[in-house]
Amino acid sequence: MTPPTKNELEARLHYPLGDTLPEPGRALVVAPGVKWIRMALPFALDHINLWLLRDTLDGREGWTVVDCCIHRDEAKAQWEQIFANELDGLPVLRVIVTHMHPDHIGLAKWLCERWNCMLWISATDYNSARIGSQSTTGFGGASAADFFATHGMSDPESLEKIRGRASYYPSMVPGVPRSFVRLLDGQTVTIGGRGWRCIAGYGHAPEHMALYNDDLQVLISGDMVLPRISTNVSVYDVEPESDPLALFLDSLERYLPLPEATLVLPSHGKPFTGLHERIQQLKDHHTDRLAEVLDACAQKPCSAFDILPVLFTRALDLHQTTFAMGEAVAHLHRLWFQGRLQRSTGADGVHRFRPHG
Ligand SMILES: [Zn+2]
Repeated sequence: MTPPTKNELEARLHYPLGDTLPEPGRALVVAPGVKWIRMALPFALDHINLWLLRDTLDGREGWTVVDCCIHRDEAKAQWEQIFANELDGLPVLRVIVTHMHPDHIGLAKWLCERWNCMLWISATDYNSARIGSQSTTGFGGASAADFFATHGMSDPESLEKIRGRASYYPSMVPGVPRSFVRLLDGQTVTIGGRGWRCIAGYGHAPEHMALYNDDLQVLISGDMVLPRISTNVSVYDVEPESDPLALFLDSLERYLPLPEATLVLPSHGKPFTGLHERIQQLKDHHTDRLAEVLDACAQKPCSAFDILPVLFTRALDLHQTTFAMGEAVAHLHRLWFQGRLQRSTGADGVHRFRPHG
């Protein structure tokens, strides 16, 4: 039996708004008191969804913003249009960020200063973003190049380019607010009189927070559950011995108790229903990828670089290759942590994986 295509899988989900998208500079109401904003990104993943929640805080009427877009003039200009068009003359009262990736937190400092309000985020992601935005060595640079070399990337030109990309994160996240309000798993944040429960998720970001409201049956899923693409799950140089795929798959289980009718508001793609179907698709996806990786390693011991063509059939530019390398290591590590592969380090310093026996 041939496996279902991406389009066939997507057809099993339901998009209540069809193909309707918010206009640039405008928002669309997706649930009572919940508006959808869509902003352009200058990457292969060319947009991000942000959310406006009608709120009352400390006796003031206004809005809570969820996620921010990267720091760049185009995004600021689009926010100004949103402020003019969509806030009913009311202020932004707080900024919630699901996780520390640049498209989510990039403009948090600007938004918080613009509206004199606080950033709400998990402590783990706050600290990661704060270090990343102040550092010229983490999140890229020499340590990332060394990590990729250990996993079989040997082309000197590519490694040189990665070495030179040391300030990649600060270029999109030049700073974060000096203080924050901590979001914890299981905590309920009252927004506009409704309780939104924080659901921590791991494996994609250090400590991602999704938000669920039971009255509306709405889940702001961030990057943890996306309708069309599978969430990036990568091993990074800062935590080279990690098993993020185990964390990610465990985290998906935490959304299963939510109702079947849940409207999922993802950071990329369109609002959808079919949460349980999508979770099963993601589990199946990784089960299949793991089987392919195991199979490749049974043919010959493989580094992460060796299995890129197993996991990715399309051509990858260098930027995509760095993401793909992180994903390849994540799949090898899952099998290694399960005891289905063993790791050995060659005389060339490269980690290769093969089955036991
Ligand atoms: Zn992300």
